[in-house]
Amino acid sequence: MDNGANVHMFADRWMFSDYHVFTEPSYVTAAGGHKLLILGEGSVGNLQEVLHVQGIIKNLISLTYLAKNGCSYFGQNNTCTVSDINGKLLLEARLENEDLLVVSIVDLLKMPEINLLDRDLYMRNTVNSYENIILMTIDQTIDVLHRRLGHIGKNRVRYMINEGLTSLPYADTDKFYLTHICKECALGKSHRRPHNKSHPKSQIKGGRWYMDLTEMTYESSLNNRYVLGFIDSHTGALFQYFIPKKFVLKEMTMWINEVIKPLRAATNLEFVELISDCGGEFDNEIIKKLLLENGIRQIFTCPYTYEHHGKIERIWRTIDDMARCLLIESKLDETWWESARDTSGYIYNRVVTSTNEPPPYSLFYGSRDSLSHLRIFGSKAYVNIPLQLRNSDHSPISNEGILVGYGDQHLVR
Ligand SMILES: [Zn+2]
Repeated sequence: MDNGANVHMFADRWMFSDYHVFTEPSYVTAAGGHKLLILGEGSVGNLQEVLHVQGIIKNLISLTYLAKNGCSYFGQNNTCTVSDINGKLLLEARLENEDLLVVSIVDLLKMPEINLLDRDLYMRNTVNSYENIILMTIDQTIDVLHRRLGHIGKNRVRYMINEGLTSLPYADTDKFYLTHICKECALGKSHRRPHNKSHPKSQIKGGRWYMDLTEMTYESSLNNRYVLGFIDSHTGALFQYFIPKKFVLKEMTMWINEVIKPLRAATNLEFVELISDCGGEFDNEIIKKLLLENGIRQIFTCPYTYEHHGKIERIWRTIDDMARCLLIESKLDETWWESARDTSGYIYNRVVTSTNEPPPYSLFYGSRDSLSHLRIFGSKAYVNIPLQLRNSDHSPISNEGILVGYGDQHLVR
């Protein structure tokens, strides 16, 4: 929302109805004097005379235009409300990072029926700019949330909103549903039947762990081939390490230093058991010595038994499915599996695994992460170039990249 603009300006063609193309080139002058090409004009919901403008990154609703047409607006404490000529509330917006984001649309906008095929095409071509839509209906915000949360099921998204587990500003879950079939979900998720057998979980946080090493089909773009995973039986918290060779000493040591030692220091945890299959990478003298020195009891499931490994199998499948959705969505090739799995693990630890359990990390660390920093995997991202590395006064101040994760190393490529 903008009180400088005289007209409504939208970038997203699919939001229009009654649309007609401008055949003669005409321009609108934006803030800063830039001339932007008008591609067409139409209505967006109940908004009339909306210009379809090339090159704007956000859809703008003009407060000036609304005021001219009998609406009134009122701003206070970072929120702004717009009412019609009879004083009926039309929409409410909240100031966030200098953008006035529409948070509830009462009656002003009834989105036109969107042709599913067009929308799907739109999503595939411009999924990045989808993040920049300033005006979204509830259905669209749910859709974005579903994507940001790694394509988890809609009931879990709804549960997380209702329980206040996300600090994302979308509150109305009454009309909560995904409006279209999610292509990434359809292509990316396996449809095997769920496991029924599950091993009773440990009563003590960090008391029992499952460990597994999985080989991937391709070497990753970061030159790794294997994933070493540790799962805490009590909370479901997952720790993943990516390694080039079938040699796990370094990463097991990291897990002990980064996870087990701090947990022992913070709680009265003493007894730790670690369950794995009896692969040669786990069943050898070096690993035995490491675990013995750190007071960790090693347990092998030999021969392989499903009950013991049910938990890790289930979580691996969740991560597989999510990573596949992220890769499809971002259009990155399969060598990016490491970033996709890393991000999937990151999301998995921070979202609910079912509708009656808090997210694994909030159980494990006893605190809640804000999820407001999550973006759609593969979105455009800009990284600031430090002053001393810039070539001249007028060289770009940031590098353009795409978002492939949230860790220190994986922020942007
Ligand atoms: Zn999906």
